Amino acid sequence: MNLVEYNVVKKDWRGIPIKFALCYPNMYRVGMSCLAIHLLYELLNSRKDVLCERFFLDQNMPLTSIESKRYLNSFNIIGFSLQYELDYVNFIKVLLESGIPPLSKDRGESDPIICLGGPAITSNPGPLANFADVIFVGEVEDTLHRFLDTVIEFEGRGRIELLENVSKIPGVYVPSFDNRVKRVWVENLDDAHHALKQIIPVCPSNSPFYPVLGKSFLLEISRGCGFGCRFCLESYNYLPMRFRSFGKILAIVNEGLRFTPTNNLIIIGSAAFAHPNLKDILEYLYKCGFRFSLPSLRLDFVDEELLKFLKLGGQRTPVFAPETVSQKLLKIINKRFEEDLLFDVAKLVKNIGFNNIKLYFMIGLPGESIEDIELIISSLRKIADIGFDYSKSIRVSFSFFVPKPNTPFQWFGMDSKKSLKKKVKLIKDALYGDRRFDIRFPNLRESIVQAFISRSGPDIAPILLFVAKNGGSLSSWYAAEKFFNFSLEDIVVNKLDFKYKFPWDSIDIGYDSSLLMNEYSKSLSLIK
Ligand code: SF4
Repeated sequence: MNLVEYNVVKKDWRGIPIKFALCYPNMYRVGMSCLAIHLLYELLNSRKDVLCERFFLDQNMPLTSIESKRYLNSFNIIGFSLQYELDYVNFIKVLLESGIPPLSKDRGESDPIICLGGPAITSNPGPLANFADVIFVGEVEDTLHRFLDTVIEFEGRGRIELLENVSKIPGVYVPSFDNRVKRVWVENLDDAHHALKQIIPVCPSNSPFYPVLGKSFLLEISRGCGFGCRFCLESYNYLPMRFRSFGKILAIVNEGLRFTPTNNLIIIGSAAFAHPNLKDILEYLYKCGFRFSLPSLRLDFVDEELLKFLKLGGQRTPVFAPETVSQKLLKIINKRFEEDLLFDVAKLVKNIGFNNIKLYFMIGLPGESIEDIELIISSLRKIADIGFDYSKSIRVSFSFFVPKPNTPFQWFGMDSKKSLKKKVKLIKDALYGDRRFDIRFPNLRESIVQAFISRSGPDIAPILLFVAKNGGSLSSWYAAEKFFNFSLEDIVVNKLDFKYKFPWDSIDIGYDSSLLMNEYSKSLSLIK
């Protein structure tokens, strides 16, 4: 494998005290489309006392660093960026394959310090508490520097003394000290570093290393989302909603595109659609001659001018996430829009000249009935009849509702496998034969595993270890169910009550937990 990249940093190993391995326990092409990897790489390598090299769990590359081809156990700090629960087993596999004891209690003075961060682990560090030495809870920009300074300060003083002092840093959870931790976040997004020298691989689009978001500059304009959809991890785990200022965004674009060889920008931010200067930003990008695209838009924030900018920016398919079309369910999930809005927006999309539209729906929502699924089917047909006539011009991506920690829906269980299969069959029978649709479903078993991990605590460590040692595939989860005599589905469908102690209750998420209870109660009152 000879991967050539722009903006790669290769430092001389001599004389640098902190050798930091930045691991993304999944494919290179996915990891390099994750802004956190670019940000951490730049932040870490900006320090004279740190060198950072990247690792990916990718069948197309060996488990050695991209930069110097060293093995993981050559580094003294290993940081994993965990974006999804399904990567937890991959994380353990990486440690096993690298000869590093996966459980923190088995690691000694000569072993690296294992750090974890990312959205899923922030919301619930429990499942990996027995594997990690350090877990970053919240946004790491400030915390990371304080952590590295502490590593330097306590160098040579032993692992326990180091970890004890690391546990005193706000936003850092050290499971072996079981310290009470409060989530941290950057108050003013303008003060947060933005990755400017983003890594771009030199490879054709059919290469296994071609990033899933293309050779693009990832531009983060917002963080958190204040719209409070009750199932949404992005919302409740990243409050408050913050926007980068227009001036700062222009400075990032001007500087970043000097260093990053692309003219393609992907705008990042779960509430990017609500940025007060969104159209000014798009106009600026257009005038500079860049191509750009936006993540999924809220229907009630769409107008003709915004869609015209998307067209001018080269986005081929506008993306929306209605989740459902039933007014009853929209109230339950707290995502309100009027009945006709989806069709009005779809008409606008068509009139402006887009031939494609992409829609995200969620099935298995609390209170959902077969009629609600039928409503999605009839709505999709109605949208197609607006004039989306080409083959696969309506791309519909379904997900299964998975209750997430620190959201009002954390007390709900998942819909049963039988019910979900019935709903999927109904949709497939109705729409698979219609060439205008490209319908995608996730793997149901994977969603069940995800739900199991996301609501579990440290006690599942033996199960995760077993699955990792048995290859980490879905079939190893079946083997685990048999070996440990339990059923994933029985656990994930359970509806819980307010007396239930969640593994993440000890984390101070930064707001009063009665907010979640109140929102849950409101949704319950709407379910007949
Ligand atoms: S609008 Fe989107 S990001 Fe915001 S809370 Fe709702 S689902 Fe989450």
